[in-house]
Amino acid sequence: MAVINMNEAELELKGFVDVDISPALDLFHEIEMLKKEKNAVVLAHYYQEPDIQDIADYIGDSLGLAQQAAKTSADMIVFAGVHFMAETAKILNPTKKVVLPDLKAGCSLADSAPADAFRAFKEQHPNHVVISYINCTADIKAMSDIICTSSNAQKIIESVPPDQPIIFAPDKNLGAYLIKQTGRDMLLWNGACMVHEIFSQKKILKLKAQHPDAKIIAHPECEEAVLQYADYIGSTTQLLKFAVTDAASTFIVATETGILHQMQKDAPGKTFIPAPPDNACACNDCPHMKLNTLEKLYLCMEYEKPEILMDEAIRLAALKPIQRMLEISKAAGLGG
Ligand code: SF4
Repeated sequence: MAVINMNEAELELKGFVDVDISPALDLFHEIEMLKKEKNAVVLAHYYQEPDIQDIADYIGDSLGLAQQAAKTSADMIVFAGVHFMAETAKILNPTKKVVLPDLKAGCSLADSAPADAFRAFKEQHPNHVVISYINCTADIKAMSDIICTSSNAQKIIESVPPDQPIIFAPDKNLGAYLIKQTGRDMLLWNGACMVHEIFSQKKILKLKAQHPDAKIIAHPECEEAVLQYADYIGSTTQLLKFAVTDAASTFIVATETGILHQMQKDAPGKTFIPAPPDNACACNDCPHMKLNTLEKLYLCMEYEKPEILMDEAIRLAALKPIQRMLEISKAAGLGG
């Protein structure tokens, strides 16, 4: 392994290996070499930049990535996503090395559920089962009974007996959507994703007026004001499948723009328009996801840092609700 000229404190402060790379280096080739040399697998979320998606061994949403992490035989997992996702991979693979290109790739939704406040909330409702969306920290997972993703949330909720009260955390928009879908009156934690909350209903309707044949497709982390106009609502993978198989040729896509890369690759003849946010930008990138770059990905493989490390007691407590999710998803025939 190459030796890095940065100490741990500097690395933690920066969040990534900050070493100059020769502009002449073919990073795609170097990353492929490192994969072989280190028996490493690159798992990338759909919201990563196109170059990272193209070099990844597996691209997916949270459920698919957790399933891949659970079954990989690689020695090193290179997780091109945000911190809670790499943490999930580590929870499932304690003996493997898990690296993340930039440790500061966090998540506003995960941050909206601080551990102490959530513990106090849970203690106020001791008879509730806690279902947590995977977009939360390991501390919140450790306090949960079952984890879910937007792909399997409905099945997970339906697996809980009808008379059992449920706390759903941390996304209030996904929770409100699931209450409508399942008819279960869940107690919602007041968290949200900064990317999905910011879509402008007004601008989306203006786009729809300009493209009357376009279908609006949206992620359930969006607010009801947007979801009510959606022709289809689904997880990132479900949106991708719908866009490819549906007869429509134009789609207004209300989720992070990274997914448009796969949509355009899988359905080159179709038009995908990113739904505009309620600010001056034309599209909506997750600033956390986009902290990862191809250069940082290469450097974290070369130097095997920054690495995800975790307290073993938290890991074991967080593992149980993730395994429960994977079992229910498998039984329901959802991916894997
Ligand atoms: S898109 Fe939202 S939920 Fe996903 S990582 Fe970014 S802030 Fe978190």
